[in-house]
Amino acid sequence: MSSATAGGLTAADQHLVEGVLAGRRRALAKTITLVESTHSDHQRRARQVLAALLPHTGRTIRVGISGSPGAGKSTFIESLGLYLIDAGRRVAVLAVDPSSSVSGGSILGDKTRMELLCRRDEAFIRPSPSAGSLGGVADKTREAMLVCEAAGFDVIIVETVGVGQSETTVAGMVDAFVLLQLPNAGDDLQAIKKGIVEIADLIVFNKADIDERAAAFARGQMRAALTMLRSNSPNWRPPVLTVSALAKRGIAEFWAEIERYRSVLSATGEFDEKRRRQAVDWMWSLIDSGLRRYFRAHPAVRSALPELVRDVAEGHTTPGAAASRLLAYLKH
Ligand code: GDP
Repeated sequence: MSSATAGGLTAADQHLVEGVLAGRRRALAKTITLVESTHSDHQRRARQVLAALLPHTGRTIRVGISGSPGAGKSTFIESLGLYLIDAGRRVAVLAVDPSSSVSGGSILGDKTRMELLCRRDEAFIRPSPSAGSLGGVADKTREAMLVCEAAGFDVIIVETVGVGQSETTVAGMVDAFVLLQLPNAGDDLQAIKKGIVEIADLIVFNKADIDERAAAFARGQMRAALTMLRSNSPNWRPPVLTVSALAKRGIAEFWAEIERYRSVLSATGEFDEKRRRQAVDWMWSLIDSGLRRYFRAHPAVRSALPELVRDVAEGHTTPGAAASRLLAYLKH
């Protein structure tokens, strides 16, 4: 084992940090593996590595892309990624897929997805970590995002599917949250009902090549619906676009809207404010999950819990009384 350096980093981890900063893929992949590990020693090392990388993060745009399976997310991300690379950018694609621990990865897991993008040096694609709960998966992805930023990727794309709360979670870790929709699929109604439209900064109807008129109609409907919904920002009304990811149409226009979004929100200070708020929210969510772990591991809680759970279930104790008794154990 190598000796520790001034920042608490071992020489090996210092080497890892330097590798990431130099943009070396092997170091990048190894660091993300370290970050994703659930081993407590790895987690401690990962925290130190991330602390060393932190000053080199943030000079990016983080874009979340959500949509139902089949909406064309991977096709769209591939077209967008290739477009951005042509424009001189470096693109990292990460995923938040809480179902991946069950299914073995429904997004990004399949090697045939984004085949052209995979082959490019200017792109880095990482499947969803399979860390179990949505919170766990999201935390690892947030950290992987920081590592990619330190490695010089200047556009970070986070893909997610409409599973449970995953859209809200991803919206909470990116600058711009994009909803990819299908015209004609009743998709838009679903999204409005689920409240996803309200958290979207941009809405994109894909597969416009199949039926241009249907796409234009869906766009009109969505624009009308948006006028009735609350906007995320007083200065930004989410634009609704039509694209064809497959035919690579509308991709440049989409990116122009992302750039416009960034400049409008930067001008009002909202862009940085949102990131600050996200960082603090993330800290609180880590505290919440840490407290929960600490609580469950507490010896007095562990011994009293089964009986109290039974009492609550059978109506012998109120949930409030049981909770307060259990929480009181933490004071000792
Ligand atoms: P995902 O599940 O959201 O990632 O969707 P995919 O990107 O895998 O796309 C699902 C299917 O739709 C694939 O067969 C794609 O080739 C097709 N597809 C994606 N984008 C378009 C498009 O713009 N036009 C057409 N006609 N087909 C598309």
